[in-house]
Amino acid sequence: MENKEIVLSGVRPTGKIHFGNYYGAIRNFVKMQESFDHCFFFIADYHSFTTQKDATLLPQQVRRILATYLACGLDPNKAAIYLQSDIPQIPELYLLLNMISYKGELEKVPTFKEKIRDGKQSVNAGLLTYPTLMAADILIHRSNKVPVGKDQQQHLEMARNLAGRFNHTFGDEFFPEPQAFNFNAELIKIMSLSGDGGKMSKSDDNPNNAIFMDDTDKVMTKKIMKATADSGPTEPNSEKSVPVAGLFELMRCVSAPEVVEEYEKKYNDCSIQYGYFKKQIAEDMVKMVGPIRDKIEELEKDTEYLAKVVKDGKEQALESAEKTMQGVRRLVGLNYF
Ligand code: ATP
Ligand code: MG
Repeated sequence: MENKEIVLSGVRPTGKIHFGNYYGAIRNFVKMQESFDHCFFFIADYHSFTTQKDATLLPQQVRRILATYLACGLDPNKAAIYLQSDIPQIPELYLLLNMISYKGELEKVPTFKEKIRDGKQSVNAGLLTYPTLMAADILIHRSNKVPVGKDQQQHLEMARNLAGRFNHTFGDEFFPEPQAFNFNAELIKIMSLSGDGGKMSKSDDNPNNAIFMDDTDKVMTKKIMKATADSGPTEPNSEKSVPVAGLFELMRCVSAPEVVEEYEKKYNDCSIQYGYFKKQIAEDMVKMVGPIRDKIEELEKDTEYLAKVVKDGKEQALESAEKTMQGVRRLVGLNYF
């Protein structure tokens, strides 16, 4: 049966794709393209300028993300794969949504507050209105389901608020309220290997804190073996520290359930040896990521194919975006003659 719900998600080309991006988001894109007829997956190149302004890095990062999408299993015959900057209707909708985005609510968004707090960058208007641009990305196709990691939950709420406010202001039920999606399961947050409780991130300064999808087997293994743990449980059934809980979470993603169970048991009876535990995670991580990495390298070389994929995706995305904007322009009164 045709599934009419619209699926949309994207990744910022701000660095190399890591295991968190894969497990929290892209893996779901690949599953969803099988059961939803209208899937849009894009590369959020405009978004990258909020934090990064290196014109020489961008093309290479965009190509790499595209190759990673395809290597993970995204199929251009099942989903529209496109670049944000290829769709002028997105900045057009962003402009209109900015007129109903309030300064106060934007300043309250936790990721904005964090970025100001760490003081590493200028606080530009683009950074403040990041959630508005993200809402435009989603609403431009009147999307219903947005497969994202847990860190995007707040941004999704903002997209829902803006959809509702637009409908209320301009008198129609035009936009659906988009929902974050992970196949009836909790949204995922893969932790940084530093064990500091933060998430794995592309823009983390220390590359040892994340497993990248193009890391060699050796590098991946080394990073996991060096990941922060603790001095080990001393009492049976004790609560796990943040770094150890993060490692168990990683194991649940890559290892078989019986293996996880075995290590949970060892943790609970205090016989766990973190060296073996990490080695097991590293082995299973290599098994999951290794074949994808090899494909990324192969696909990245085929620039002709990559260009064709985004050209086809652009056509589909443009058609859908223009249809939405015709409705928007009519509703807001931008139709004079
Ligand atoms: P940046 O640090 O540049 O913001 P990022 O690692 O946060 O990079 P994004 O491009 O912002 O990556 O996010 C792409 C997708 O990956 C989003 O759906 C996001 O929720 C998901 N994601 C990012 N990090 C994690 C993580 N550690 N665990 C699970 N999902 C994640
Ligand atoms: Mg992010």
